[in-house]
Amino acid sequence: MRSHLVQRNLRQDPPLALRGEGIFLHDSNGKTIIDGSGGAAVACLGHGHPRVLEAMRAQLDRLTYAHTALYSCESAEALADLVLEGEPGGLTQLYLCSSGSEAMEAALKLSRQYFCEIGQPNRQKYIARRQSYHGNTLGALAAGGNAMRRAIYQPILSDAFTHVAPCYAYRDRGPAESDADYVARLAAELEAEFQRLGPQNVIAFIAEPVVGATLGCVTALPGYFAAMRAVCDRHGALLILDEVMCGMGRTGTMHAWEQEGVTPDIQVVAKGLGGGYQPIGGILANRRVMEALRDGSGAFMHGHTYQAHPMAAAAALAVQRVIREEQLLENVQAMGALLEARLVERLGNHRHVGEIRGRGLFWAAEFVADRTTRAPFDPALKLHDRIKQAAYARGLACYPMGGTIDGRQGDHVLLAPPYIATAADIDAIVDRFGDAVDAALAEVSR
Ligand code: PLP
Repeated sequence: MRSHLVQRNLRQDPPLALRGEGIFLHDSNGKTIIDGSGGAAVACLGHGHPRVLEAMRAQLDRLTYAHTALYSCESAEALADLVLEGEPGGLTQLYLCSSGSEAMEAALKLSRQYFCEIGQPNRQKYIARRQSYHGNTLGALAAGGNAMRRAIYQPILSDAFTHVAPCYAYRDRGPAESDADYVARLAAELEAEFQRLGPQNVIAFIAEPVVGATLGCVTALPGYFAAMRAVCDRHGALLILDEVMCGMGRTGTMHAWEQEGVTPDIQVVAKGLGGGYQPIGGILANRRVMEALRDGSGAFMHGHTYQAHPMAAAAALAVQRVIREEQLLENVQAMGALLEARLVERLGNHRHVGEIRGRGLFWAAEFVADRTTRAPFDPALKLHDRIKQAAYARGLACYPMGGTIDGRQGDHVLLAPPYIATAADIDAIVDRFGDAVDAALAEVSR
């Protein structure tokens, strides 16, 4: 080991990313790689976007930091105005922090404080979903339902969280079950969980509109979120939607919930907010929640030294302006349709591709040992990791995940090209990805 920096893999130092340019990364192996997933669906404008760099330089010259105990700052104010323009879904306030996990913590604390402010301090439970990911800090990890990520930390995780099934039709819908019956079953499960906990004790139901890091771009069936929202409404609980990965344009609308016919009380955002130009996350909250705090104690009992950081907000403001002014949501929709078509054409009939799924520029393939039984590969093969390596060798970065299937490792690989991607970029991504999949599967079938 030569690096003093803690790496993800403690036994092997990765190459250095030296320079980023549009959809490309240049590294210390002398390779130029198409960043086909923007890291973990982060780099929504690609790398080195001139308008974002210019805005960051201008902010650097004006102000790099001022503490929020005394000041607000121009870039954070303008970002809040832009993100909440027209008060989408009744969301009226933006709280800014530095990451998705921090944002999830803020959502948990805001929702708890809301019920204290309105005289319901008995509400102390959250219902989230199995096979979900909400971040790595202890509160966010407790909310998450990924058994493997939680395993060793279980004894120090809060027991305020319980979990119900996600909407994962590929694996969980019964063979003779209609979509409507499956959704009704999931709503009944949520209702039963409210009853088990005591409906008056529940703060919120927490879910990702499109599941990202655990299962790979699993979209919900039509009507699912409306049914979940109805259960929350029946019991006066809040709906917290985690759009850290799928939000801020990634699915072709600014917010993924716009395609679900529901609005959250609190929405969690991060990656696409700042596109990786600066570390930034945030929560969007509605009037009901924020007015209760304003009329009550008058303060959100939470905060961080770097909240609403001027540099981070300036970078995110530029990213958000570019998305709007360059009509990039339209490009996400058009290039998303192309990405879906090309993936289905290249891999749709592959005997080890169980499902290709996603929305907008957020797509994943789930790999299976047997398409008929849907049995996953032996986890020891680490197929998802082999695909990542084979893709890298062919000049493509993709995002591999070993999600949990029935408590076991599964194999999902995610693609999330930047919103600026062209048709030629999509073709190159799918060609390299298809070749990588063939090569990795040839290795494990040997
Ligand atoms: N929530 C979701 C849905 C995520 O995908 C992630 C990260 O992948 C997080 C929360 C945590 O974000 P961060 O890694 O910025 O802390």
